[in-house]
Amino acid sequence: MVKAAVLTAPNQPIEVQEFPRPEKLEDGAALLKVDLAGICGTDIHLWHGRLKIPYPVIPGHETVGTLEEMGKGLEKDLLGKPLSVGDRIYFASGVDCGRCYYCQIAKEQTRCINRKVYGITLSCKSPPYLFGGHSEYVYLLPKAYLFRVPEDLPTESLVSVGCAAPTIIHGIEVVGVEAGDSVAIQGAGPIGLFALALAKESGASTTVVIDSVKERLEVAREMGADFLINTNDAISPQERVQRVLDLTDGIGADVVLECTGSPNALDDGLLMCRDSGRYLVVGHFTDRGTTAVNPHLITRKQLKIYGSWGMAPRHYYKALKILRTIHRKYHFEKLITHTFSIEKAQEAFETVENRKAVKAVFKP
Ligand SMILES: [Zn+2]
Ligand SMILES: [Zn+2]
Repeated sequence: MVKAAVLTAPNQPIEVQEFPRPEKLEDGAALLKVDLAGICGTDIHLWHGRLKIPYPVIPGHETVGTLEEMGKGLEKDLLGKPLSVGDRIYFASGVDCGRCYYCQIAKEQTRCINRKVYGITLSCKSPPYLFGGHSEYVYLLPKAYLFRVPEDLPTESLVSVGCAAPTIIHGIEVVGVEAGDSVAIQGAGPIGLFALALAKESGASTTVVIDSVKERLEVAREMGADFLINTNDAISPQERVQRVLDLTDGIGADVVLECTGSPNALDDGLLMCRDSGRYLVVGHFTDRGTTAVNPHLITRKQLKIYGSWGMAPRHYYKALKILRTIHRKYHFEKLITHTFSIEKAQEAFETVENRKAVKAVFKP
């Protein structure tokens, strides 16, 4: 039997359930023994029903595991590297159909109309059940995108930003960060922190990180953020915006990245942008409600506002490539402040919800 954490319905206690270990794999499928699985902010939102998902669901969409069984025909990973039992595997949480308008015409796999996402939109109601990382095993469908993890990339360095890295790599691909840009980052969770690393590596001249949690801002400082704004100090929106203006020659940031998931971040964010600046809204994977925005501001400031949803296989590939180069410089493994067993799922989720962890993970 396989132990896994299960979201049974919105706002219900998280159950630890047992599922039968799949006996026979379908052709092209794989079975992973989970080494480490991250708990993402999104998991907390799913727990509270802020995204329509087919409960019951085993959460967990940022996972590294050891290949334990391979279905017939599975021989290589997405990059054509031969796979064998015992390999460390990282996989794309999204499985697209490859056939729809968005897959083939618009070339936006993240908007595939038949998209299934591990730990989110794949239910554990029926066999083979194991579609989430918060479990001892994960069943990878034949269409899943697998990557063999390079030997010089530690599992902790990858899982700490397992979802955040591809998410913001996608976001920055959409919004663009150019050499010399000033970049303001709202939110210093894993997405904001990886955004900071990417901005610095892209040649940003000034980076400003904004959050209310001192420990997170401290991590941002260690990673090389030029300026920090603690929203507990700069309480009013006017103060926060003014500080960003002061740090950017009075004109505002070239690029502002919303990595908070909090609707009212938009009010500040639009004002922090310079005229004709670029604003990326990437933190709202789940529905946290509305906020009032003055359209005049968008017209007058000539703003460019972008959205970015999830990530496609190419962003996982880029995450692996980038992390291999920069993980020693930024020590992403240090983001992991809490490690839990599957049995402690309830405590783990509460810890993340109460923002006590920079990053929490399950180690089955
Ligand atoms: Zn996530
Ligand atoms: Zn599709």
